[in-house]
Amino acid sequence: MSIQIPDSDEALGACRVAERLHQNGFTALWAGGCVRDLLLNRPPIDYDIATNAHPETVLKLFKGSLATGKSFGVVRVPIDEHWFEVATFRKDHDYQDGRHPERVTFTDARHDAERRDFTINAMFFDPHTSEIIDYVQGMQDLKDKIIRCVGDPATRFAEDHLRLLRAPRFASTLNFEIEPLTAQAIRNDADNIERISVERIRTELTRTLCEADKAGDALMLLDSLGLLKPLLPEVKAMQGQEQPPEFHPEGDVFVHTVLMLNSMESPTLELTFSVLLHDIGKPPTAVLDGERWRFNGHASVGADMARKIMQRLRFSNDQIDTVDAAIRGHMRFMDVGRMRRATLRRWMGAPTFDLEMELHRLDCVGSHSKLDHYDFLCDAQKEFAAEPVLPEPWVNGKDIIRMGISNGPTIGKWKHRAYELQLDGQVANRDEALAQLRREMDVAADSSSLNEQENRKV
Ligand code: ATP
Ligand code: MG
Repeated sequence: MSIQIPDSDEALGACRVAERLHQNGFTALWAGGCVRDLLLNRPPIDYDIATNAHPETVLKLFKGSLATGKSFGVVRVPIDEHWFEVATFRKDHDYQDGRHPERVTFTDARHDAERRDFTINAMFFDPHTSEIIDYVQGMQDLKDKIIRCVGDPATRFAEDHLRLLRAPRFASTLNFEIEPLTAQAIRNDADNIERISVERIRTELTRTLCEADKAGDALMLLDSLGLLKPLLPEVKAMQGQEQPPEFHPEGDVFVHTVLMLNSMESPTLELTFSVLLHDIGKPPTAVLDGERWRFNGHASVGADMARKIMQRLRFSNDQIDTVDAAIRGHMRFMDVGRMRRATLRRWMGAPTFDLEMELHRLDCVGSHSKLDHYDFLCDAQKEFAAEPVLPEPWVNGKDIIRMGISNGPTIGKWKHRAYELQLDGQVANRDEALAQLRREMDVAADSSSLNEQENRKV
């Protein structure tokens, strides 16, 4: 295995940084993730440089550089459009909070390799000589597709609990196995994952599920390592929750979710979390009705739960609202054949419609495989696409107020009704719409005054 320096601006920038340090008598090596990715023929996310030059020297050598973590020896260096992290070889000491070392000392490349998490992440590449420097048998593990801690796994996970999640992330996204002693150490330490900040957990969890080829297998890996229960107890609770075999021949709610996750193609964060959480409302709503399991209201219960989980993990409000909408609406598909044209058109115009469709498609693929509702909506979409985009409403809120309605929700209701009349083709223009509304308002007023009289009688 060897490394060809890519012909990208970033790689050339990283060569320039190393070259400059080299010309000044220092060692400068590409380090960690970028070496791993280049050996795997994957484009690196970023290039990190490790050196024996101390931060003050790095700051002096590069114009515009910034000391971001000077006590840790990290300096950010700008070259053209790109920023590079240049870190002095270091050894970390006295981890106390299960995440950060209390102090670091500057040292040589070998010790710097030894502080890194996994062997495949602990290699260096010298762009000056094209030599790969591997103190930890990282190359062998890369060939064997193995995630193995550098050093004693129990010690390494106790130092920094974030590594508990990095291991399954690399295993899932690279399609590697976790070496048995490393996996056992994760299982022993899994509950400590709760001590890591939610932002870190969110980032790792999202990357694991969104970047894995098979997000369902990634979820099962997290579970087999004992990480699912502390992270997402609501998802763990789907295991063993039976459902009617005529709709779900595949098995329990967890198995169904895993199948759906595995069927996703280049998923977004929103799709991934919609799939993951779409049925979490089933266990809490499950009742056995004779022989048959029922889950009344599971979509809205699940949407409320998803909202809480995503708030707990500090996702953005937009992400939360989108996932909430997809989960809350996922049973609407059963009714598409009975929906009015105007309702369908409005739904299809909703910003979350494509996401809802994909969630529904996966829901079918991960169970009975019947795509009738999906196909019906695809046809309707084609039909509506041939029609002009949704027209401007003829009747607006001010019109309704002029007609004597002052209560907010009631204005909304009549505006909605006017638009429905327009889209359904029941009225031909604005005047007809207003006239029809007037008639319906009069009928409504009569019946409500009748009701009041009835109530008074009672
Ligand atoms: P990617 O950037 O693709 O997520 P990466 O391996 O580059 O993967 P980074 O978080 O960018 O990961 O870290 C760069 C390098 O720093 C890693 O390759 C590893 O050598 C080291 N490293 C990162 N996080 C840790 C950690 N928690 N414990 C020990 N070493 C770490
Ligand atoms: Mg990186």
